[in-house]
Amino acid sequence: MSLRLAILDLDGTVYRGSEPVEGAAEAVARLLQSGVLIRYLTNNSAARPAEVAAKLTRMGIPAEAEWVIGTGPAALQRAAELGLRRPLIVGEPGLLESAAEAGFHDPGETPDGLITGICRTFDYRMLDRALQAGLTGGPWIATNRDGTYPREGGRVEPGAGAIVGAIAAALGREPDEVIGKPEPTLILGLLNSLGIRPDEAIVVGDRPDTDLEAGRRAGVPTWLVLTGVQKSAIPGQPGSPDLIGLVDSLA
Ligand SMILES: [Mg+2]
Repeated sequence: MSLRLAILDLDGTVYRGSEPVEGAAEAVARLLQSGVLIRYLTNNSAARPAEVAAKLTRMGIPAEAEWVIGTGPAALQRAAELGLRRPLIVGEPGLLESAAEAGFHDPGETPDGLITGICRTFDYRMLDRALQAGLTGGPWIATNRDGTYPREGGRVEPGAGAIVGAIAAALGREPDEVIGKPEPTLILGLLNSLGIRPDEAIVVGDRPDTDLEAGRRAGVPTWLVLTGVQKSAIPGQPGSPDLIGLVDSLA
């Protein structure tokens, strides 16, 4: 087995909310011992890489900030590439702070685009601001379209896709670009930057419709774990109950 890179989903694969998934710390440590690079790829736009790495470290799961690839920073990078200066950002404080640090200006009454991520204070006033920003005709970049995301104790909460749905209903159109899984954009960028071929990597996650679909679109083998959204094995889809099963299969 010539595995060089494991691209791991976070929510439902490595942790659930504030709880580590059982076996995740051991599995990641064993992959690293085998010389496999680890990258954490999350559709969650809220948390910043350094904060995610610190959370993983507190859980005993090996992590560095550079190993964490989130859709929030990637959405901001894409907005900069498109020449946006003052997009309206619907998101959590972490994303707003990252935007300010990246040099984006307060949109005021004249936003030149729209960026949407998870936003747990989303309300009618924000929906109206997003509608007005969308009506200006600037690009709309969505971090992801996940309808829900897993929390502690098997509970799910509304995801960024639910917010996309509300704005799309008001605006009468869909986002111009979606950054996160199932789009292969982040995976292809990662392989390119590390100089690793698709067949030397594996994409691991708990959601067939996002994690595994993104891997397929990037041409990377996929592995399903049953610690998150998907509760049962899928015929023909490689996988195991948890991450330990992946490591055991490589041994
Ligand atoms: Mg997940």
